[in-house]
Formats: sequence, C-alpha cells, structure tokens
Amino acid sequence: MSSIFVSSLFNSYSKYIEEKLENKRFTHSDILPLITKAAASGNLLVNSTGHSFENREIFSLKFGNGKTKILLWSQMHGDEPTATMALFDIFNFLNADDEFNNYREMIKEKLTLIFVPMLNPDGAERILRCNAAGIDLNRDAARLQSPESKILMELTDTILPQFAFNLHDQDYRWSVGDSNKLASISFLAPAYDVQKSVSPARADAMKLIAKLKQDFEIYLSGQIARYPDDFESRSFGDTISGKGVSTILIECGREVGNINKSYLRKINFMLLLSSFKEIAEKKYLEQNSLDNYFSIPTNGKFLFDLILRKVNFITNGRKYYSDIAINREEVYADNSRVPFFFGKIEDMGDLSPFNGLEEFDASELYFEAPKVAQKLCNNIADLNSEYLSGLLRDGFQFVKYVGDINQKSFTNLPINLISKNSTYLPAAFPASAANFNLLRNGSPFKQVVNGWLINPGETSLIKNGLIF
Ligand SMILES: [Zn+2]
Repeated sequence: MSSIFVSSLFNSYSKYIEEKLENKRFTHSDILPLITKAAASGNLLVNSTGHSFENREIFSLKFGNGKTKILLWSQMHGDEPTATMALFDIFNFLNADDEFNNYREMIKEKLTLIFVPMLNPDGAERILRCNAAGIDLNRDAARLQSPESKILMELTDTILPQFAFNLHDQDYRWSVGDSNKLASISFLAPAYDVQKSVSPARADAMKLIAKLKQDFEIYLSGQIARYPDDFESRSFGDTISGKGVSTILIECGREVGNINKSYLRKINFMLLLSSFKEIAEKKYLEQNSLDNYFSIPTNGKFLFDLILRKVNFITNGRKYYSDIAINREEVYADNSRVPFFFGKIEDMGDLSPFNGLEEFDASELYFEAPKVAQKLCNNIADLNSEYLSGLLRDGFQFVKYVGDINQKSFTNLPINLISKNSTYLPAAFPASAANFNLLRNGSPFKQVVNGWLINPGETSLIKNGLIF
C-alpha cells in the first residue's frame, strides 16, 4: 500500500536533488554555502546553535510557524552522511514553488520544523563516528561533555518538540530478521526505561512508524526492519523519548553497488516529507493498534558479502571442510575521500546460521593457499592486463614489486603487490586478507582475489588490489 502523495514525491524527487552533494564524504565546508543558499529564499530561518570541538559552526534551519514542533538532526555520527544529503534535498523542496505548494502551506501553518544538519562536523572531517575528542555523541546524552551534545540537548529543552527524528546510517550488514535480505531502512521508537514501557508519546512514534512501513513497503521490497530497542541511558533517542517526545530513529542501511546510497537518500527525503504530512494531518493515529509496529522484523544477524560453503581442505595430512565468510570493507586512507576495498576473511568453520549476499557451493572444490609470483617486477608498465590475466589464470594473487610505489595501501591493478621491503607472508585465516584458489582436479577453478570470487584470469570484477 502506498499513498498518492508518496508516489508523487517519488516521481518528482529529481527536481530537488542537491547536486553539490554527490560524494558522501563531503565536509562542513561543503555544506556552508548550501546553508546560505537554503536561507536565501527567506522560507528557512537559519540560526547558529554553537560550535563543535574544533570550532565548526553548527546551524539550525527553521521552517514554518505551526503549533506542532518537530526537531530533526543528522550525522551525529560523522561517518553517517545519508540523511544530511536528504536534508539538503528537503531544503530545496521546501524552497521550491510548484505543484506541492499546498503541502508547503499546510506544513508552514501546522508545523514548526527545526533541522540540524551535520551535528558532528569534526567527525565528518575525519570520516569517523566520534567527535574530535573521540567521544561518541550518542553515548554522551547523560554526561553532556561534548559541545555538540550540549547543543542538541539545549535545543531539545528550549524547543520542547512533540516529535524528534534522529537520523543515522547503520552497520550495513544487518539483515531483516533471519532472512538474507539487507535491512535498507530500520526504524525505532526508542525505549525510555529498561522495562521498555510504552507512554502515549512513544505509542505515537510507533504508530507513525507503522504507517511509514505500510506506505514504503513497495519502495523497499521487504527490506524494512526494526532496530533493537534495548534501553541505552547514554543515547539521545532514549533520553529524548524519556522527556515525553515522540522520537523516531531512522537508520539507513547499505545499498548494494552504490556506496553513495542515492536511492536510500531519496527514500529518506520521502520518509521525512511523508512524516510531516502524517503529523500535520494526524493520519497516523488511524493505526489503532501497535501490532503493525511490533510485527516489523527486527534487525537480524550480520550478513556477509560472500560465503563459500564447504570448501575442502587438506592441511597437515588432515582432510576437513569449512565455510569461509568474506567481507569487502570500504577503507578511507591517507585522508582520501574515495575508498578502496579490503577483502577480509571474517570467519571460518560452520557458518550455517549466517547468510551471504553472494553464496557459492564449494563442496566439490579444494582450497589452495595464496600464491606469490616468483618473478620480481620493477616496472608497473610490465603489469599489463594480458600479463596479469596470465598470472591470475595460473593461480597467483600476488606479485613482488621492487620498484617505487606512490600509493601506500592499494593499487588499481586487479592483483595484490608485495613491496620490496615487506615481510608479508600471504595466508588465508580469519582477519587476514581474502586471497586463495579453489581447485578442481588440481588446477584453479575459482579464485578469490582481495575478496572477489572470480573465474581465474577474469579481472573485471576486481575493483582494486592491496599493497603489502
Ligand atoms: Zn549512528
């Protein structure tokens, strides 16, 4: 079930995209001109709320003068930017003059929206969860030792909102319940005590979430989940919920094949604008039981990027089989705003309770440890694609490189390099880099190179190799 309003947002979204925010690793200096732009129309009132640890200014933007107040903040974890991008799309939407004018007028009259985009600019600068003091703001709601935490608590206590939206990105390996589906969006109406009591305000948050779940099911095909609701007295959601505010946590999950999560950014845009409409019109109150909230599956076990099932091993004369779970982690090194991927063996053994986004039955294949090409290479140009495909076909995942390497951590080549002074000895074990062969009749049938499962010699899937 969906509403006409939601589908019209879906169809019109491209008009409002803030094109300046394309790479998710933007910083405070990237959003400053966008805040100025948002304020220029006079529809959004910008206020300085204070400064971060490293003196970056944190702003609030206000829209409307209605009785019902809504406070929203994004990116209290510096490395969780999706909702910030969506907020700037929303500012463009609120400033536009088009077929949604009736909506804007209604919101302006009935609601007061107060947005705080990027509450943790110092964390965004470093692509880190915590602030510049190393403190996780979402564990600082009781002690309030960080300037950013004080800003948020002060705003809450002066505004006294009816609703609060706490906007995050979640660990992208959560699944929907026990399924092999990724949790793309997880909601929570946070508990405010260990008994997980349900006050009228918390019930309202649950009803709104239940309504959103109904309306957004078709856009997220079964990938909506509920975040665990264990009480955490140090977190803002739980603390603000305890002040009688209907609090809604929205956690944005992973988007396969798109690290900038453009689709989930659009979904965030739609979710928030729909929430405003629901709150203004009080439609969500038609949810007459909380069952629709509690029936949303909770976030489940971690998913892995790849699970190889029942790989045969012969080690020290012993024959056994083991599953191998691999993740390809996004790594930002040397202050780069563009990641490389580190393919890592996460776990081995009986992994039958877990799911892989990609699964491969290796029960007919034999494990072969990673192999290093013995011929030394001192010129990158020698590593042409024909030569590398040949090495990979022969089951090699590593080349010893004796020339100078500018890059420290990774190479755009589809093979790993071992640099001249390195003592690295490739091995395949939990926590190590994922490189090995899968043999059939003694020769490579499949190969894992930096976490990607390929037919030997086939380089197109491998985004990067690593340098050891
Ligand atoms: Zn977070």
